[in-house]
Amino acid sequence: MVAEAIQTKKRIRIDDDDDDEKTFTNDDVEMNPTLVAPDSDDCEMEFEEENPPPSPSPRNANESAIVSSSPAKFLTKPTTPASTPSNAMEEIFSPELLGQYYSRLFPFHLLHSWLSYDPSTSSTQQPNETKTITNKNKNNTFSHREFSFTIEPSPGDEIYIRYQSFTTLQELTTAVLKRNPRKIDIGAVFSHPPKDHHAHQSSQNDWRKFRPHQRELVFDIDLTDYDGVRNCGCSGANICKVCWKMMDMAVKVMDLGLREDFGFRHVAWFYSGRRGVHAWVCDEGARDLSDEGRSAVANYFEMNLETDKKQTHDLQTPLHPSFQRAYHILEPLFLRDILPESGHGILATPSAWTALLSTLPMPTASSVVESLTRKWESDDSTPLEKWDELKRYLDVLIGKGSKKSKKQSKTMELGEKQRIEVWPVATVFRYTYPRLDINVSRQQNHLLKSPFCVHPKTGRVCVPINPQKVEEFDPFSVPTLPQLMRELDEYNDDCIQEKGSGGGEEQEEKPQWEWEKTSLREPFKCFEEQFLLPLCKDLRTADRVKSEDC
Ligand SMILES: [Zn+2]
Repeated sequence: MVAEAIQTKKRIRIDDDDDDEKTFTNDDVEMNPTLVAPDSDDCEMEFEEENPPPSPSPRNANESAIVSSSPAKFLTKPTTPASTPSNAMEEIFSPELLGQYYSRLFPFHLLHSWLSYDPSTSSTQQPNETKTITNKNKNNTFSHREFSFTIEPSPGDEIYIRYQSFTTLQELTTAVLKRNPRKIDIGAVFSHPPKDHHAHQSSQNDWRKFRPHQRELVFDIDLTDYDGVRNCGCSGANICKVCWKMMDMAVKVMDLGLREDFGFRHVAWFYSGRRGVHAWVCDEGARDLSDEGRSAVANYFEMNLETDKKQTHDLQTPLHPSFQRAYHILEPLFLRDILPESGHGILATPSAWTALLSTLPMPTASSVVESLTRKWESDDSTPLEKWDELKRYLDVLIGKGSKKSKKQSKTMELGEKQRIEVWPVATVFRYTYPRLDINVSRQQNHLLKSPFCVHPKTGRVCVPINPQKVEEFDPFSVPTLPQLMRELDEYNDDCIQEKGSGGGEEQEEKPQWEWEKTSLREPFKCFEEQFLLPLCKDLRTADRVKSEDC
């Protein structure tokens, strides 16, 4: 209760209009007077023993059928858009629904197994084993990890609590069930347990100071940053299936670049719950990167994609091999998903192609603009044909065509020629190349929303995305909280019916976790099989090599 009173004095109001993906750093807290970092008292999570949090998920279908009879069934509208008006918020997101999600579905064991980086903390443990599992990892990776909670003790009154840390899976589970946070952020692994940060912050001995020393390399890509090139009618937090394809493109380019250019093997992708994606690069080499190293990797992927007529961009010929590879990935997607009317229609109407042609370097390309504008007004060529035609005209202009055009282009300045040559590439990239929120990537000590959380505005779970099948990912199919509760109820009702009719015995395999009874099964299983198991395998190999060397 004392802790509650202190927290009340240190409230951080988070504006509803604020970016949901906003993360806070120490600097944010210090620089911005409206944000106040909770002190160490806030971070001590002292729970009353006589009032324990709800039990973790029941073990099997039979037990859960019994348990499900006590919580209320949550009947709500069957579908919700990815961005939901605030007046519908109560139906898709509420403390009660969130509490149900944390107590029955949140995959604490997956999160703990991942963030421990210790193959001995197997993700395949039984749900009832959570109490006995402690992380004895020699590096204290889990126990020194910062978690932060955004809690809402009363409607509209948010408190942001930093520097939470937990020694065990059970401690984390207990704290989350008790606090029922609207949002969980994950920060760095520190030199000391973050809950003790005050005891070490003022230390005179440099080696004893509280400081971050490890952190996944993270990337945040948000459709808001594509507003200047989204012609689907969406802007800000709104998304649709047409503009979501830009996220598919971003994931493809980033995932391949991280793996091929930097040799990273363990890259986990997640839906942010509303309008973007997050990447967590978890290789040891990535986690050990300094802030300078992070900036260098992020800068490698960053591209100046100005949309003004001056076409100021970073592209030069010949293209850097990574840009060449990105172009080969992105141009076919640009032709399919950006150019046509069903996409962003940038060559589908006279006003659209006039706007696009006006971005050509002028006055050098004025003859091309005049010729094509005249031609396209009177023909019925498709956007795809127009794009090919435009590229052909530009090639001729810079002397890539006949001898005659070569002769004509000799009078053109080299700089102008290059600007025309890269214009098609720059145009494809302007619509399709990943737009990173680079500040998220640059610092070890930057918090990012925890995977598996629920976005309060949409009620949707931040589910893992398989980068190999990113085109199949549909943000509108990601389950919402009420949908998940319905799925649990339906599963358990079916079990009761089967048991009543004597068919229960024939059930092939009983689910180990409650989430296996819902549509979270596929994305969570995929995370486990495609990301977590290979990560643990590599960690085991690294441990074996180290012990052999000793
Ligand atoms: Zn859209």
